[in-house]
Amino acid sequence: MKLSNKVMDITPSSTLAVTAKAKQMKAEGIDVVGFGAGEPDFDTPEHIKQAAIKAIEDGFTKYTPASGTVELKKAICHKLKNENGLDYKQNQIVISNGAKHSLTNAFTAILNPGDEVIIPAPFWLSYPQMVKLADGVPVIVYAKKENDFKVTIEDLEKAVTDKTKALVVNSPSNPTGVVYTEKELRAIADFAVKYDLYVISDEIYEKLIYDGIKHVSIASFNEEIYKRTIIINGVSKSYSMTGWRIGYLAAPEDVAKAISNVQSHATSNPNSIAQKAALAALTGPQDCVEVMRKEFEARRNYMVERLSKISSFSIIKPQGAFYVVIDISNILGKEFEGRKIETADDFSEILLEKESVAVVSCTDFGFSNCIRLSYAISLENIKKGLDRIENFVNNKL
Ligand code: PLP
Repeated sequence: MKLSNKVMDITPSSTLAVTAKAKQMKAEGIDVVGFGAGEPDFDTPEHIKQAAIKAIEDGFTKYTPASGTVELKKAICHKLKNENGLDYKQNQIVISNGAKHSLTNAFTAILNPGDEVIIPAPFWLSYPQMVKLADGVPVIVYAKKENDFKVTIEDLEKAVTDKTKALVVNSPSNPTGVVYTEKELRAIADFAVKYDLYVISDEIYEKLIYDGIKHVSIASFNEEIYKRTIIINGVSKSYSMTGWRIGYLAAPEDVAKAISNVQSHATSNPNSIAQKAALAALTGPQDCVEVMRKEFEARRNYMVERLSKISSFSIIKPQGAFYVVIDISNILGKEFEGRKIETADDFSEILLEKESVAVVSCTDFGFSNCIRLSYAISLENIKKGLDRIENFVNNKL
């Protein structure tokens, strides 16, 4: 029996595959340093865990409204007002099983078969797959390294057609960690309004931002862009709550209502206990976020300093999230033990096999001459891993 064309077209997540292979090697007793992590290495803060325990003890273990509890929606509206200067009503918020789920909901709500979605590359690898699952067509726009891996309006103008329905903005970005300036975001907002496009603004890394930069939401510039934006956010990255699976979106009322209907049939509410935990995260003390942010910034500084000294590598200093992208074009074409390194995939494979260091090839992020290193691992492991990489690149290639 044949599967649907739609699912046959979907590729598995290569970031999860690298992490799985590294885990397997570790289980075999190999001392692997894994730079593949897509999640903070910190424990979920104690007061958040306690809120979940209390929810269980209080019997808060039943269905909630499909789009999330009123109290959590209220807290999200309050957060959006206080931190982002945005006015949303509760009926514009949908809470889901992680930001991934919010994203798939958003694409499902706005796309008809054949509608195009512009995705700037390097991109987080799930976007094109999600668009395809929603019967849309991903249109990849390649940002140039000399533009700090950010797309320009000229780049976007070349990609827009009469089928373009939406544009993805992800700042701070996974994988590059680049943050679009307010001026750049304003220009993108004008572009979206000019062509009457939805903007899917993935702001999941908003709180992990460095060098004193302040996150700005594209929806905040004016009424025109506000009514075209679907903000995606969640607690996974900011509060080290990846396993709890709570994400949310803020959207125009009609979009939120449609998504809420879809969710009521597809999954019903996100986990009731995790919603209580997310409520504690958003309304409780925020110093835990700053502790983690500071630690990430220190690790970023260390990584950037070390990587800048490796002459075959070229990097753009990330200003947010917890990843560094390395352009390894200078290494491609070299040989190691008779094996030609033609792509970032080859390089990552050899690095894992021979040096026990797991990195993610950016092929699935749209750039086959780059690798991504996550610094959501301890400084001690970062040092160990970078020693190995440095030795491999400088002395063995
Ligand atoms: N958006 C981006 C850019 C991400 O990197 C991730 C996770 O890796 C997500 C969304 C999904 O987050 P969640 O764990 O809340 O589904």
